[in-house]
Amino acid sequence: MADTQNALRAFYDEVKDCQKCALAASRTQIVFGSGNPEAAIMFVGEAPGYYEDKEGRPFVGAAGKLLDRLLQEIDLQRSEIYIANVLKCRPPQNRDPLPEEVEACKPYVFRQIELIKPRVICPLGNFATQLLLEKKVGITKVRGQAFQVKNYLVFPMLHPAAALHRETFQASVREDFQKLRALLDQGIPSAVSREQMQLL
Ligand code: URA
Ligand code: SF4
Repeated sequence: MADTQNALRAFYDEVKDCQKCALAASRTQIVFGSGNPEAAIMFVGEAPGYYEDKEGRPFVGAAGKLLDRLLQEIDLQRSEIYIANVLKCRPPQNRDPLPEEVEACKPYVFRQIELIKPRVICPLGNFATQLLLEKKVGITKVRGQAFQVKNYLVFPMLHPAAALHRETFQASVREDFQKLRALLDQGIPSAVSREQMQLL
């Protein structure tokens, strides 16, 4: 526990002044990630928003409040998970991440994964899903299914913010969390293999 925590802290110190993309100029601070360094389950969101940028912690704004509720509904504590984002700095006006920003920032989330060694990674939304599946695939095609990637499972889910923007998504967002609960209850077994994924 202490080892991973220390390694994450040392890594944070390394990246906190990062200037690798243009977002460095407009951010208040980087939003590195938070949670249990030994977590078996890791969530990867898109990028910090207004409140995350101010507080330096992921998912503390409206989407974060909803995420807390959804986690509670499937009996997952924040203390059981680790949360980070694809981008560590807030894009102005919360616009979509640019390809060059994702390119510049992605080594950080992959390093976090290496240190934490989660068994399941849940990318939230399109950007995180495409990064973790290493494939340009729409979230609606792959959500709620487990994919074996390297030594972890990737379980893409709709971004909770989708439910904030459009009420019609609420049931679907919830459904993905229920499916995650079912996967965890099964002891994390049958994933779609890389070969099957080529068909998607
Ligand atoms: N949305 C995200 O994807 N990440 C955050 O940290 C907050 C909102
Ligand atoms: Fe560095 Fe990532 Fe922030 Fe860009 S978004 S400045 S790559 S930490």
